[in-house]
Amino acid sequence: MTADVPTSIPGSTALLQHRIGDRLLGEPAAERRNPARPDDVVAAAPDGDADTVDQAVEAAGRAQPGWAALPAPARGAVLLRAGDLMSARRDRITADLVREEGKTWAEAYGEVGRAIEILRFYGGEGWRGRGELVPAGTARTMAYTRREPLGVVGVITPWNFPIAIPAWKTAPALISGNAVVLKPAGLTPLSAWHLAQALSDAGLPPGVLNLVYGPGGSVGGAIARHRGLAAVSFTGSNDVGRLIERQVQERGARILLEMGGKNPLVVLDDADPEVAASIAAQSGFGVTGQACTATSRVICTPGIHDRLVAALAAQAARYRPGDGLDRSVLMGPVVSASQMRSDLEWLRIAAEEGAQAVVAGGQSGAAGQFLDPTVLVGVKPSHRVAQEEVFGPVVSVLAADNPDQAVDIANDIPFGLSAGIVTNDLRQAHRFIERIQAGIVKVNRPTSGVDPNVPFGGVKESSTNTYREQGAGATDFYTWTKSVYLGFDEG
Ligand code: NAD
Repeated sequence: MTADVPTSIPGSTALLQHRIGDRLLGEPAAERRNPARPDDVVAAAPDGDADTVDQAVEAAGRAQPGWAALPAPARGAVLLRAGDLMSARRDRITADLVREEGKTWAEAYGEVGRAIEILRFYGGEGWRGRGELVPAGTARTMAYTRREPLGVVGVITPWNFPIAIPAWKTAPALISGNAVVLKPAGLTPLSAWHLAQALSDAGLPPGVLNLVYGPGGSVGGAIARHRGLAAVSFTGSNDVGRLIERQVQERGARILLEMGGKNPLVVLDDADPEVAASIAAQSGFGVTGQACTATSRVICTPGIHDRLVAALAAQAARYRPGDGLDRSVLMGPVVSASQMRSDLEWLRIAAEEGAQAVVAGGQSGAAGQFLDPTVLVGVKPSHRVAQEEVFGPVVSVLAADNPDQAVDIANDIPFGLSAGIVTNDLRQAHRFIERIQAGIVKVNRPTSGVDPNVPFGGVKESSTNTYREQGAGATDFYTWTKSVYLGFDEG
């Protein structure tokens, strides 16, 4: 497929089409505007439907056997080349990601770097032996297992990491010999395009990765229900995730859901308040608080509470929102007008519940969707703002009487994605690691940010908690085990 990579100049619009087999289809329709500069139309993508999904699944079904028949290192070579191509295009893709999603330059550059690392990590996995040799109970018999690809799989992704998440779902699927139908979020069509283009330019055969644009309900729903898809991997909100889960399970296919978080950072008396506040701010206000692993609750023991609140307020004052194309800006805009309304509604609810804003978030800047960061104090564990995901630059500070109660409060939510503690007390750190109900635990590090080789996923309502993403084990979701007995009788 010889599609041009759309330009990344503010004011220019990337006209995107579905990528199905060796064809570009559909007329660009739905516009995506830069949340920092509403006049800048970043991209336009077609509105697909169930018929588009049918075509994509069909193309993937045709391409998959040939792809699976390649030696795994040859599949890996394609991923490694795609990583190199994205590396060469990194500035350009970064600029598009900033314009499309609203991250700062450093955050977007880091995210593109993450996608490159993921392609390279799974490219290297092509050389790793999968399956095991096991002793058979019968003489002159060899028993071993093979990992077989599932076939054609569906991938549905959110807007908040618009190139890293498509990469971390697609790369392990591809290295395992599957073909993929990818539906990115409507707000971020261009970042997914860059991933598909790099893989195509790296030699991925047509049809092995198909990109379908369109509304969640129609295109996403068609993916969830499609009998030609052996599995669906989804990242996004809980409501949509649980709906898809029912649809996928009804037809007996495999499902992986990664959903919301309400991530706690426990700060104990012995911590340095400046260090703790910096860790909280990085995870709470970084990426405008729009990360599933964002710190949204800081739970303090009594001896540090007031000093921590003062230090966190000082940090919040540094995170003035602005346009990420200005490289000095520390925090980008809110992704959309509806997310902005939701964030402001959360501030209203928190005030109604009795929380006080130490640093008050409010709308700032006339042109873009900018929201100042907010630190809330006086938040009780039962408050809605302490229980439900906000997905904006809002950090609630909660008071605990002692370290054990802090962990109780940390666990007293439906979610369990990421959690952190700031302390130099090794005994308390270990108690926290043992007791906390979260898929990812950080000691003296921000709750957000993970490496491509480390398993990623949550517990409780954050995840299906069956398979993990990232790391070598991510290919488990995209493969099944075949046990082989190989007899070699003499004579
Ligand atoms: P969302 O659930 O609205 O959308 C996610 C994807 O699902 C999009 O591609 C969307 O078009 C599609 N979709 C929407 N309705 C659908 C339907 N009825 N059927 C099928 N597909 C449908 O989520 P979002 O607003 O894009 O992302 C924010 C959410 O994602 C937050 O809750 C955040 O915590 C979560 N998230 C989780 C992780 C994680 O790894 N746990 C990572 C990033 C984001």
